[in-house]
Amino acid sequence: MLIVSAPSGSGKSTIVNWLMKEHPELRLYFSISCTSRAPRGEEKDGVEYFFLTPEAFKEKIANKEFLEYEEVYKNRFYGTLKAQVERQREAGQNVVFDVDVKGGVNIKKHYGDQALSLFIQPPSVAELRKRLEHRGTDTPEAIEQRLAKAEYELTFAPQFDHVVVNDDLEKAKEETLRIVRDFLF
Ligand code: ADP
Ligand code: 5GP
Repeated sequence: MLIVSAPSGSGKSTIVNWLMKEHPELRLYFSISCTSRAPRGEEKDGVEYFFLTPEAFKEKIANKEFLEYEEVYKNRFYGTLKAQVERQREAGQNVVFDVDVKGGVNIKKHYGDQALSLFIQPPSVAELRKRLEHRGTDTPEAIEQRLAKAEYELTFAPQFDHVVVNDDLEKAKEETLRIVRDFLF
């Protein structure tokens, strides 16, 4: 299993999507989480997430069905089902967890040597700001929120197995590939 966490805008999606597309031999597949938020745009139940009502989500918490979960915003929960991870592993998938830093640390604690945890780090918070502004997917307020959270998220880096500094993108991709290959093969 592969756990990848990073402050928003670090380049995590760019690197992971490249790895999945260009290296199918790694058999990497995203773990499908549950969320109590509504689907956005073209999102489909069972593809990006399993979309649950807050009540259904809370019931699964009470039944201890989650490997880990977080209430990221009031009544907006995100979590990974133990049974879902097992299903994906039984299907021969190397499961990739794209989760926030706390979720990443918790999943690593649970799986130990069976999981590799990677932290994708931006060269600086100033560069992070530039990337988020350039990406153009967030409002100025959302960018400020993400940056404020980034300082805190960066303090989690030492708890990961490897830190990949994403300064030169090509170098970061190759470094990630090397680390993942060493782990899997
Ligand atoms: P995340 O998934 O961590 O939120 P993204 O992969 O969406 O981040 O990357 C944020 C933005 O930064 C995107 O517009 C992406 O193209 C750009 N980007 C990624 N890596 C680099 C890099 N090494 N140098 C410059 N821009 C980058
Ligand atoms: P979004 O609403 O944009 O899809 O996701 C918001 C945040 O929730 C992202 O930072 C994402 O990494 C995190 N997230 C998605 N699934 C999970 C999960 O199963 N557990 C945890 N802890 N975080 C998750």
